[in-house]
Amino acid sequence: MKIFLNGELVKREDAKITVFDHGLLYGDGVFEGIRSYGGLIFKLKEHLDRLFVSAKAIGLVIPMNEKELADAIIKTLKENSLRDAYIRLVVTRGAGDLGLDPRKCKRPTIFIISDKIALYPEEYYKNGLEIIIANTRRNIKDALNPQIKSLNYLNNILAKIEAIKADAEESIMLSSDGYVAECTGDNIFIIKDGALITPPLDVGVLKGVTRLAVINLAKKEKIAVNEKMIKPVDLYAADECFLTGTAAEIVPVTKIDGKSIGSGGPGGVTLRLLTGFRELTKVDGVRY
Ligand code: PMP
Repeated sequence: MKIFLNGELVKREDAKITVFDHGLLYGDGVFEGIRSYGGLIFKLKEHLDRLFVSAKAIGLVIPMNEKELADAIIKTLKENSLRDAYIRLVVTRGAGDLGLDPRKCKRPTIFIISDKIALYPEEYYKNGLEIIIANTRRNIKDALNPQIKSLNYLNNILAKIEAIKADAEESIMLSSDGYVAECTGDNIFIIKDGALITPPLDVGVLKGVTRLAVINLAKKEKIAVNEKMIKPVDLYAADECFLTGTAAEIVPVTKIDGKSIGSGGPGGVTLRLLTGFRELTKVDGVRY
């Protein structure tokens, strides 16, 4: 396996970063998780745009432009002969000293790891996930806006630990004022009376690339979409529920906090959107 590291393709065992990198010392950096399907990189521009928005929000100047990063991703995929891949693109503040001062970091570290996609077990899609609502809240927007896809995932990890302890697959994180925000690595949707409902970005959630693709798909299929505040009680009363993310695609949720959602199996609207989404990934992307 070859890793792209600061402009070069190096062997996995040589892909090393100094312990003085502020990405490691402080979680000071941004990243993207991208996917390719049969030699097509899905929504590459959307991911790169988001990376630059995240970087700008933390005052990090990426020393490559979008075209150069796209070329680097393609080069990495080709070098590893990957047609169906998961791509992790990371930009850290770079090596500094032990203080916080980002001015000490002279050059951002850029790396790209591409690997075979570790597909979620098929039973998740057939039977749906059992998830919980975590006690750990999503970051407060005014402290660290969840729209910044930064290397700080600690509150998500704490929520994931809660899920593991409860023998569940995922955790829903609420905003500080108790509204449904998102899961630890996925956005969330419910279906009520045939309409799709998902929390607005303002609640403090990541602007998921899959979230938007699903919203557009639903609109095309004449399914109503409402971005509105959701309370836990609305989740329990939903007809269907699913999560969206680059790795998960669209994964049905059939139990929340031990309560069955809808009929207790994956719902019809969810499965219709999953079929539509999978069709989209076959045709929509940057070919390499
Ligand atoms: N929310 C969070 C917190 C995430 O980390 C992710 C990405 N893994 C998502 C939502 C889904 O975003 P996307 O569809 O762009 O992968």
